[in-house]
Amino acid sequence: QNVANQISAGEVIERPASIVKELIENSIDAVAKNIEVKIEDGGRELIKVKDDGHGIEADDIESAFNRYATSKIEDIDDLYSLYSLGFRGEALASIASVAEVEMISRHQASNQAMKIKIKGGDILAKKPTGSTIGTEISVRNLFYNTPARYKYLKRTTTEFSHISKIVSAEATANSNLSFKLYHNGRKILSTPGSGKLKDTIYAVYGSEIAENLIPIETEDRYIKLSGYLCRPELTRSSRSHELFFVNGRPIYNNLTAKAVETAYNKLTNPGRKPIVFLFIKVNPILVDVNVHPAKREVKFSRNQIIFDVIKKAVRQCLKANDP
Ligand code: ADP
Ligand code: MG
Repeated sequence: QNVANQISAGEVIERPASIVKELIENSIDAVAKNIEVKIEDGGRELIKVKDDGHGIEADDIESAFNRYATSKIEDIDDLYSLYSLGFRGEALASIASVAEVEMISRHQASNQAMKIKIKGGDILAKKPTGSTIGTEISVRNLFYNTPARYKYLKRTTTEFSHISKIVSAEATANSNLSFKLYHNGRKILSTPGSGKLKDTIYAVYGSEIAENLIPIETEDRYIKLSGYLCRPELTRSSRSHELFFVNGRPIYNNLTAKAVETAYNKLTNPGRKPIVFLFIKVNPILVDVNVHPAKREVKFSRNQIIFDVIKKAVRQCLKANDP
């Protein structure tokens, strides 16, 4: 069981940032309003995510770490939509199989919290404790039992920059939630949770970007776009600030990036990349469910439609705002 868990964990946990992403998404699923992420040494020492969501009932805290014991699949439609954005019901099991995990959770209907410690899939301790409503998970000793994986971890700054990217994208995707990110005790990021995308972009990406945004909004038979483009004078040397969200979730997709870059072409200097925050709502029939579990790459089944709609909308929007 443990070996199977470790092998499968390798598929979903590439690096500390993958853990951060899974834990944040669990907090969002638990309807948290505030999510706090504390990292020590790029995640090698500590990854801690604390939320004020609905929490877990004391009787269920152990089974949350069982593979495929998800509480989130309610019907077949749900299964379909969940799978379309990645694997389900194995994040906690995977994490606990390659690290030491401590979880403290207090369910909203309970006046006491439960604390559980798991290492390499084995339960080390479990006892009631005091805490506010919500869930706090601490991950230590990552990859302690898979030295080959540990060796592949990059420098602290590299691992932390992956984490920071994930938290930034999740915060942008969820501007109604307040996110805080700390590294080695230093506050790196804090979003207001006002529900206004622009406020979140300001908090995460700074005033220069926030003051040069152009709203975009368009709807077509298959897809709906909204969000912001940034003026073409403002660029980056990589795709680091091309953010795409499909049906509310941050994703990476080469096609959408290409469509946007094609629309910006000639307006940006050669080799420079635009800055965009593009929310894409698509009919589920256009999303290929066959995606890699961890990477959250989305494939569309009608590439040409998606590409054309995005390119055209971005081009029109830029043209309309050309001073
Ligand atoms: P999944 O999220 O796909 O269901 P996970 O392994 O990530 O699978 O989590 C297992 C279960 O643990 C969840 O279905 C949920 O019931 C519970 N859980 C995990 N994290 C939290 C959290 N932060 N708040 C409340 N419940 C949680
Ligand atoms: Mg999960």
